[in-house]
Amino acid sequence: MTNNSADNAAVTFRDMGLPEAILKTLINLGYETPSPIQAAMIPHIMQGRDVLGQAQTGTGKTAAFALPLLSGLDLNVKAGKPQVLVLAPTRELAIQVAEAFQKYAENLPHFHVLPIYGGQSYGPQLSALRRGVHVVVGTPGRVIDHLEKNSLDLSELKTLVLDEADEMLRMGFIDDVEQILKKTPAERQTTLFSATMPPAIKRIAKTYLRDPQEITVAAKTGTADNIRQRYWLVA
Ligand code: AMP
Repeated sequence: MTNNSADNAAVTFRDMGLPEAILKTLINLGYETPSPIQAAMIPHIMQGRDVLGQAQTGTGKTAAFALPLLSGLDLNVKAGKPQVLVLAPTRELAIQVAEAFQKYAENLPHFHVLPIYGGQSYGPQLSALRRGVHVVVGTPGRVIDHLEKNSLDLSELKTLVLDEADEMLRMGFIDDVEQILKKTPAERQTTLFSATMPPAIKRIAKTYLRDPQEITVAAKTGTADNIRQRYWLVA
């Protein structure tokens, strides 16, 4: 594995070779410069490399994978079998990530993304999958259900994203994640994001990622300089 600090890259979204349709959307959204994780990751994901990112929410990690993956989609083919699958620990995150893809794809005509998660009835998910989608964002349990029903076909998958992998581990989904990994094409690109790297996540990375670019972004959890913290010890 190679390691890259994400601290001193000074590049623009244009430098990274993102298509005009996406650059236009970023201007509309007011994204002026890539965040450190975006600057460090987007070029590698664009090249099709596997990536292991240690980063928390709030660092811009969603755009770090969504922007390059949207750039690499084949939108000429009618939306059919998914080209990208994102696994997320919770329904809320799955919806949020699907909405981010939709937002960044504003100027990509015919783009389709579908969130699939437990607790929602199968009907709308089944008909959307039947109509065809480019990107699926799902929670592991429901993704397995669809694989078992043969309603989700991963045979054309180009990229798998594991988002908040340590949370999926904490919530007991890691066996499901591994089962899904085994059902994806061997030549797929894999990107794994995790705020922490417990041994089980390291093992997943070692087993399923090929020579990943490793990127760590320091957590921004410091206290502002103008705040003084004091504490009292009590019995
Ligand atoms: P995330 O860490 O993916 O949850 O993103 C945190 C927030 O930062 C989201 O609200 C994004 O819309 C926003 N964001 C991501 N990248 C950028 C950027 N380069 N410039 C400005 N805002 C951004």
